[in-house]
Amino acid sequence: VWGHVLAELEKDMSKAKFQSWIASLSFVGVEDRVARFEVPTTFIGNYVDQHFADQIVYGFNRAGRAVERLHFDVSLAKRDAATPIPVAATTAKSSTSDFGADFDPLGLPIDPNLTFDNFVVGKPNELAHAAARRVAEGGPVTFNPLFLYSGVGLGKTHLMHAIANELARRQPELRVLYMSAERFMYRFITSLRERKMMEFKHALRSVDILMVDDVQFMAGKDSTQEEFFHTFNALVDARKQVIISGDRAPGEIKDMEDRMRSRLQCGLIVDLHPTDFELRLGVLQSKVDRQQEIYPGLKIAPGVLEYLAHKITSNVRVLEGALVRLFAHASLVGRDIDLEQAQDCLSDILRANDRKVSVEEIQRKVSEYYNIRLSDMVGPKRVRNFARPRQMAMYLSKTLTSRSLPDIGRRFGKRDHTTVMHGVKKIEELCNTDAQIADDLEILRRALEQ
Ligand code: ADP
Ligand code: MG
Repeated sequence: VWGHVLAELEKDMSKAKFQSWIASLSFVGVEDRVARFEVPTTFIGNYVDQHFADQIVYGFNRAGRAVERLHFDVSLAKRDAATPIPVAATTAKSSTSDFGADFDPLGLPIDPNLTFDNFVVGKPNELAHAAARRVAEGGPVTFNPLFLYSGVGLGKTHLMHAIANELARRQPELRVLYMSAERFMYRFITSLRERKMMEFKHALRSVDILMVDDVQFMAGKDSTQEEFFHTFNALVDARKQVIISGDRAPGEIKDMEDRMRSRLQCGLIVDLHPTDFELRLGVLQSKVDRQQEIYPGLKIAPGVLEYLAHKITSNVRVLEGALVRLFAHASLVGRDIDLEQAQDCLSDILRANDRKVSVEEIQRKVSEYYNIRLSDMVGPKRVRNFARPRQMAMYLSKTLTSRSLPDIGRRFGKRDHTTVMHGVKKIEELCNTDAQIADDLEILRRALEQ
């Protein structure tokens, strides 16, 4: 029977798939409508069960043997048979926990939650998104490599996983390999040590799409870079798509060999810009839906998302973390989310994201406001027209920056720290007696914090 089933399976699936998964099964027999197999590793058994069980069961039944499900036993004997280094599965169903001790896949698993559907597109990332989409269509290779770069938490890894997920859906026969540069180095080194360089090279060169995340990690690692350079060239020459991410443009990665750098520059280079308000709000809105699935019934007051999108500007990851914490906190204390709870619960994140104002900026704004020259603000003149604005700027420097009094003094034309202290006190006093000064202070403070 198994021979029949095998022949049908071979017709129905790509050669690569058949070779990687089905060929390693050894059929034991059918018992109580359960088809039993021996497999070299748990991982292979699980993978086959998850991906091909229906097809195999169907094959048995068509061949006249009633089978309802499959069962896999790990056979130690099978392990000695030379198994090629498997390329990582493209779907995340194969979680790492499935990997037997002797089974170390080349790549990293793909997170099924990182898709194009839940990638929010805005001005700062539209180009990167469009390029990733293009690659995910799996058409002829038009730019190679695709190089994505940005600061942390802006969506490079998300886009790479989205490409893998999309390709797994559209063209499951393609072999997609996703790995971090760190992973590449680790596998390169273990292959050297275990004398499996041929297998390593072969496995890498037999993929259809290679993605290497955070390539800056290879900076200064010469032999890893060298090996990657050869892999890269072999794939590009074979017109296979290569996608690489980094924390900066290829030309700016330090300790990278010139030939590597220039190869990286041959394709399409796109950067993901820091987020803008609209994108942040969009991300928050989309993540709120997800949180509300987890905490049904928990409400969020209007304006809170806008507030967070204004205040938390560092990156999407922090934004996401803030929202997760907000919902968890609200559900624990058992009340809906409002602005006050948000400020309370996120005070550390909000503080870290506070816009940093410099003493120089304060001096500039204050002298503009009072219509005096910047040079007079920091100059030696003691006339009242200059003294009051100067004190105001000192007060703002003390309250809006973390600089010490002597440090502030130095920045005001090498004045002494007691002068600064006096200025700060003066403004504090005046605020209680002089409505005009209090107003000026409020206006300036707001302008600077914006
Ligand atoms: P990077 O690899 O650039 O450091 P990631 O791709 O890991 O950043 O993104 C950090 C987190 O922010 C991830 O959870 C990701 O899903 C999320 N994220 C980033 N950009 C977006 C976006 N445009 N839409 C939705 N989620 C995003
Ligand atoms: Mg990343």
